[in-house]
Amino acid sequence: MTRKFDVVVLGAGAAGMMCAIRAGGRGRSVLVIDHARAPGEKIRISGGGRCNFTNIHAGAKNFLSANPHFAKSALARYTPRDFLDMVEAHGIAWHEKTLGQLFCDESARDIIRMLLSEMKAANVVLELQKQVTTVEKTLDGFRIGTSDGPVEALSLVIATGGKSIPKMGATGFAYDIARQFGLKIVETRPALVPLTLDPNLLEKLSPLSGIGVPAEIRHGRTAFREALLFTHRGLSGPSILQISSYWREGDEITLAIEPDLDIAAALKTGRKANGRQAAQTVLAEILPKRLAQFFVESRGITGHLADLSDKAIDSLAGSIQNWTVRPAGSEGYRTAEVTLGGVDTSELDSKTMQAKAVPGLYFIGECVDVTGWLGGYNFQWAWASGYVCGESL
Ligand SMILES: Cc1cc2nc3c(=O)[nH]c(=O)nc-3n(C[C@H](O)[C@H](O)[C@H](O)COP(=O)(O)OP(=O)(O)OC[C@H]3O[C@@H](n4cnc5c(N)ncnc54)[C@H](O)[C@@H]3O)c2cc1C
Repeated sequence: MTRKFDVVVLGAGAAGMMCAIRAGGRGRSVLVIDHARAPGEKIRISGGGRCNFTNIHAGAKNFLSANPHFAKSALARYTPRDFLDMVEAHGIAWHEKTLGQLFCDESARDIIRMLLSEMKAANVVLELQKQVTTVEKTLDGFRIGTSDGPVEALSLVIATGGKSIPKMGATGFAYDIARQFGLKIVETRPALVPLTLDPNLLEKLSPLSGIGVPAEIRHGRTAFREALLFTHRGLSGPSILQISSYWREGDEITLAIEPDLDIAAALKTGRKANGRQAAQTVLAEILPKRLAQFFVESRGITGHLADLSDKAIDSLAGSIQNWTVRPAGSEGYRTAEVTLGGVDTSELDSKTMQAKAVPGLYFIGECVDVTGWLGGYNFQWAWASGYVCGESL
């Protein structure tokens, strides 16, 4: 027997659950289907287990999309404060870590429990470990073939996320459905991902593995000032993850280590105070010792500070604060936090997320070509796009 619902949501992630809560709360019969064993797996592992669930500064400026205006409507209609109201109503303790990033005090699982309890209150049916085999348009809705029989729905919401971390069940399903219905896709690529280096540079930098420093990383006119981490594969840390969303193969990035400090001035002051000390000694007061040693050795500097001209000092400081690197690649979808690109926003109504050419079909969350910076923005997009969609069903 074919079961019938007003709404079927494919994907029990952040966006799908929020959409189901809103649609169910408005009296729609809603079925959420996911092939995973548990809902909200990415929520569970997010923010180091504490879920950076939103960012109080979230606005369209914090998102990458072929149409930078598309996200404005949803973000304005469901704000970080709206999500925070739900978090607080469930008694979940939270804190602001840095740069407007809000985290749970205890565990990301609190957010999943909250969403499940809201879904229950809205009479949403959740079915896990179920495969979706086919999606067909019918006269008045959709027929979804699943591993335990067909389901019919007036509206079908695709909330299956992007391709990041296939090990966790990520698939290109949303893009396949979009293509099936003739919708355009903006080319997808891994984003918020560590960058790798060619073997020569990697070998040179290998003594630095494990070091973290404040940095500003630049790519063209885009710059992020957050921590930089040297790893055994290349470069990581928040500043690198952020710039990775802008970087393309073959491009250079510029690293400014300790951007708030005037390293040239510190070296000159050190030279004046005690010209017999080594450059490395002064640098090691500012930078981790291994990093100080690396920069001095790679410039071939030996001897006393007094022997260094202003020009030599400026050049050494420049190698630290204006360091150009050409990454070889990225770690790919295996470790990327998000997928850049996705269902072309020109195909969707920004107020409802409905496909303009396919009434009743909706795309929400990460599968849409709206990608946030690191720092709670991607969840805010998932909540906001899910909410406005649920509101329209
Ligand atoms: C390690 C990590 C940490 C992160 N930390 C943060 C953070 O702290 N803050 C932040 O804002 N963002 C964070 N993100 C990004 C954030 O998790 C995503 O942007 C967000 O989860 C996207 O929500 P979504 O609902 O669109 O997709 P998802 O949460 O990916 O949900 C998609 C769901 O669809 C299901 N699915 C996929 N394919 C199928 C299929 N074929 N059939 C049935 N079901 C399917 C999946 O099992 C999944 O449950 C992090 C991401 C990662 C990987």
